[in-house]
Amino acid sequence: MSGTGYVLPTFEFRVPPELATAGSADGQDGAPDIAGRVYPLIIVGGGLAGLAAACDCAVRGIPAVVLDEDDTIGVRGASSRGICYAQRTLEILSRLGVFQRVKDKGIQWFVGRTLAGEDEVYSFDLATQATHSYSSQPAFINIQQFYIEWYLVDRILESDTVDLRWKSRVTGIRLLDEGVELSVQTPAGEYRIKGRHVIDASGVASPLRKMLGQNTRAEVGVDRWCISDVRFRQRPKTERWTWIEAPFNQNRAVWQHLMGDDVWRLDYQMDPDCDPEAVSRPEVVAERLREQFGEDVDYELVWVGPYSYRSHVMERFRAGPVFFVGDCAHGMSPFGARGGNSGIQDADNLIWKLQWVQRGWGDESLLDTYDSERREGAEHNVLVTNRTARFLSPRTPVERMIRKAAIDLARHHPFGRTLINTGRMSMASVYTRSDLAQAALTRRLGVDAIGAGTPLQNVPLAEHGDLEQVIRSKAGCLLVVAPDAATAERVDARLVRDEARAAWFVADSQAAPAGWAVLAAASGARPLAEALGLVTGRVLVIRPDLHSAGCVPPQSVGALLACFGPGPGPGKNP
Ligand SMILES: Cc1cc2nc3c(=O)[nH]c(=O)nc-3n(C[C@H](O)[C@H](O)[C@H](O)COP(=O)(O)OP(=O)(O)OC[C@H]3O[C@@H](n4cnc5c(N)ncnc54)[C@H](O)[C@@H]3O)c2cc1C
Repeated sequence: MSGTGYVLPTFEFRVPPELATAGSADGQDGAPDIAGRVYPLIIVGGGLAGLAAACDCAVRGIPAVVLDEDDTIGVRGASSRGICYAQRTLEILSRLGVFQRVKDKGIQWFVGRTLAGEDEVYSFDLATQATHSYSSQPAFINIQQFYIEWYLVDRILESDTVDLRWKSRVTGIRLLDEGVELSVQTPAGEYRIKGRHVIDASGVASPLRKMLGQNTRAEVGVDRWCISDVRFRQRPKTERWTWIEAPFNQNRAVWQHLMGDDVWRLDYQMDPDCDPEAVSRPEVVAERLREQFGEDVDYELVWVGPYSYRSHVMERFRAGPVFFVGDCAHGMSPFGARGGNSGIQDADNLIWKLQWVQRGWGDESLLDTYDSERREGAEHNVLVTNRTARFLSPRTPVERMIRKAAIDLARHHPFGRTLINTGRMSMASVYTRSDLAQAALTRRLGVDAIGAGTPLQNVPLAEHGDLEQVIRSKAGCLLVVAPDAATAERVDARLVRDEARAAWFVADSQAAPAGWAVLAAASGARPLAEALGLVTGRVLVIRPDLHSAGCVPPQSVGALLACFGPGPGPGKNP
């Protein structure tokens, strides 16, 4: 790896209380712990997924400790990884309070073009697609992954509920009757720490996964790529260009798109038998750039590095008090930008559930839905990204033949373009298998819980910013939205008064019954009823992760809330 590189911040190691407390009780092998202290939540790994989880804790005021073996963001020696961040991620980042910085630093792009040789065989304009239509956030932003991690760290440091511990490598894990004990290695010595719950966000090579004997089905890709991050004197157009067959790269694939700081990310598909070090040498990169942009290409090389990938999904995303998130739980090829985006969705799905259980609002079955929902999301993402990987790197003569036929068709016929697969962009997951999905809730309630488990968009609002801001201001509550005052009045008034886990709204209305507030779309935006798919005579319940909990008749709202757990009961608000 070479290039002028990025300058990443480093964070100071501070001696943790466990080691600072002289005379604390000794553990079995001489490493001290603070006898009796059990932290509510420990997060192992401060990458994209772990930091998103930690930031969510900071925003919600949940006490947590983060242990990371490194003292910087990004992955040391591999600074260029994630680049595309999808609408759902941006919506979550908005709730976490870092979206504006991402938007200011990042690049918004809408047009993508795919070429085979000189021919355009596929193109899209995200601005015209449905994913873009209702949300406060754009369809995508391109930004270096480490910037998002950096902003999350800054945001976490604004709170005093999350203790970020750098240079703290977790070397052991022991399940206790209630909770977990971790062994931690630091520059100041080793210690043990206990947590009621642990999130393993330690990446694809998670040591905890192995220590706990958790299985994962891995498939190692044979495809080899080399990234060149480059700053050009003459800027190409801000569009995403992909070549399935690039004449300037021995008819292999090439990606070209812009990130923050005016840096272009170029990914070149390499010969599967290439020497990763040789293809990353500056003089070899220079040759590739001349082939692509011409002899007089004028550039500064920011970073170069090779990569390969594997795909895997753990058999369970939960082992008792331990939850697996991000690349630890699932790995996939980068095509479609589904890795980091889905790790952030993991955090978004899990943290509110942990908060509910900590508050006594939900029970263990709520935590189990983390496994069923996010595993479904991961399996879908792996399926989608594997298809792309096989299209880009066919493994059998039949796959090669199908790809050639698809490219030939796309050259001449618009319908053939849908067969071109250089990546299907990350989307918010749909949950169909969980106990909180439509089929399960409909069975339990005896009425159709329309749409339960489907994602909603972050609709801009007249008074409260947008839906994510309302979710944040309502401290983890479910949002109950009635299409009109008449429907709202049919919800049991005692439920509206007593249920601590819900906030009550009437959409697009001038008036609301007692206990309900008005929620209206921002001027110029589509009415809330349309944006949220409200149904006359039914009430929509929105989960804290901006998924639908179902659209049910007013008299079934209480029963629907009960499906999330017994709740604290009247007068037990936190
Ligand atoms: C070339 C490439 C392009 C990509 N493009 C995109 C993209 O455009 N969009 C996208 O969404 N995703 C993309 N991805 C995927 C994305 O980079 C990963 O999915 C993401 O980094 C996973 O985050 P994570 O937090 O799960 O793991 P990691 O980022 O790997 O973080 C793991 C953390 O755990 C720490 N750790 C490890 N072991 C221990 C231990 N024993 N004790 C304490 N700490 C430990 C590490 O220091 C690290 O900070 C791309 C990946 C690659 C390789």
